[in-house]
Amino acid sequence: SHIFSPLAEQLEPEGAFVYLDLANEARRKGLDIISFGIGQPDFQPPRESIEAVKEALEKGNTRYISPLGLQELREMIARYVSQKYGVDVKPSEVAVTVGAKAALFMAISLLTRPGDDIIVQDPAFPTYECVVRYAGGRPVFVKLREENDFRLLHEDVDKALTSTRKPRGMIINSPHNPTGSVLEKSDVEGLLELAKRKNMYVISDEIYEDYVYEGKHYSFLSDPEWRDYVVYISGFSKTWGMTGFRIGYVVANEKVIKAMDVFATNMYSCPPAPLQFAAIKALELGIDWFKPKLQDYKRRRDMAWEELSKIPGVHVVKSRGAFYLFPNVQEALQRTGLKSVDELARQLLFEKGVVLLPGTAFPLWGGDGYMRLSYVLPEEKIREGLRRFREFIVEKG
Ligand code: PLP
Repeated sequence: SHIFSPLAEQLEPEGAFVYLDLANEARRKGLDIISFGIGQPDFQPPRESIEAVKEALEKGNTRYISPLGLQELREMIARYVSQKYGVDVKPSEVAVTVGAKAALFMAISLLTRPGDDIIVQDPAFPTYECVVRYAGGRPVFVKLREENDFRLLHEDVDKALTSTRKPRGMIINSPHNPTGSVLEKSDVEGLLELAKRKNMYVISDEIYEDYVYEGKHYSFLSDPEWRDYVVYISGFSKTWGMTGFRIGYVVANEKVIKAMDVFATNMYSCPPAPLQFAAIKALELGIDWFKPKLQDYKRRRDMAWEELSKIPGVHVVKSRGAFYLFPNVQEALQRTGLKSVDELARQLLFEKGVVLLPGTAFPLWGGDGYMRLSYVLPEEKIREGLRRFREFIVEKG
């Protein structure tokens, strides 16, 4: 019997949350868990932001507001993004959303027509594929290759757009989840040029834009003609440690923002008002607040990379961004006789209490053969977790 709409079948659970449940099961069995599984920073939001939420609640900022968010916050975001990327964004070109995720859901479903082909990186954040299918589009996967440090090459996108395709858009994410790759300036320029030539829109998920350890981040807003085809998405979850606050934002042309106004009205009325005061406070503090965190994460990245490199049969690119490493464990699988990364992930969890996500959690070619490690733990935990991982491989090998 069909209880659900067939649309519901296009949506799938997210691997990261599945392993969160498994880790809890292992914890109940008494294991001391070290989790490299979850993709959220381990620091608290700024003190001042927390105070601002309390104050907002006390003052009665507890009601419906505009579906596009507080006007003051939209103005601040417009100024902030404009300064950051040397562009000229107007407040009417900004929407505040319920996390970057709601922004993605709205942008993908508003821009995808049934039958459209949409470029999706492989591997990628699972939401992209789900929502493209939900909207009736067809994801066209472009493989990110280890030999290119998992960067999306415009040549590879071009090759995927064969004559039978109806290209409509690309969903791009740099710095990238799950590989930690960061696009170079020339990559961004090449992809923008290709998008224009093929008349495609670009949805650019830049939620990790501040987590770049070497070099800098190039935004897809950097083309002065961004209004014609770019939808930029970011938010407060990663830079400000506000994953549970659910405040994200979009920069796009006014037509897209107006369509989102109606979409948001029907879906959730407005992003939570009191939490937006935390975001206002964060932008007042400015990005300097984040700089020590970035240094801390860089040290963790270096250490996790070094420790992983010592494990027999594990090869790992030293990715420049986000808080992820994406080790290649194909050789380790052969040594240990384990059949798949899923089996490796489960045994590692239930035997050693260590959570790493199988690459297959990110709808894949063969993310098979890879694991995602999120280094959002104190250094001593990273060291201990990777010591156990090494022990596991050595004992089985
Ligand atoms: N985009 C990417 C690539 C992510 O990894 C995540 C969270 O893990 C999100 C978006 C969701 O961000 P938010 O918490 O703002 O919804």
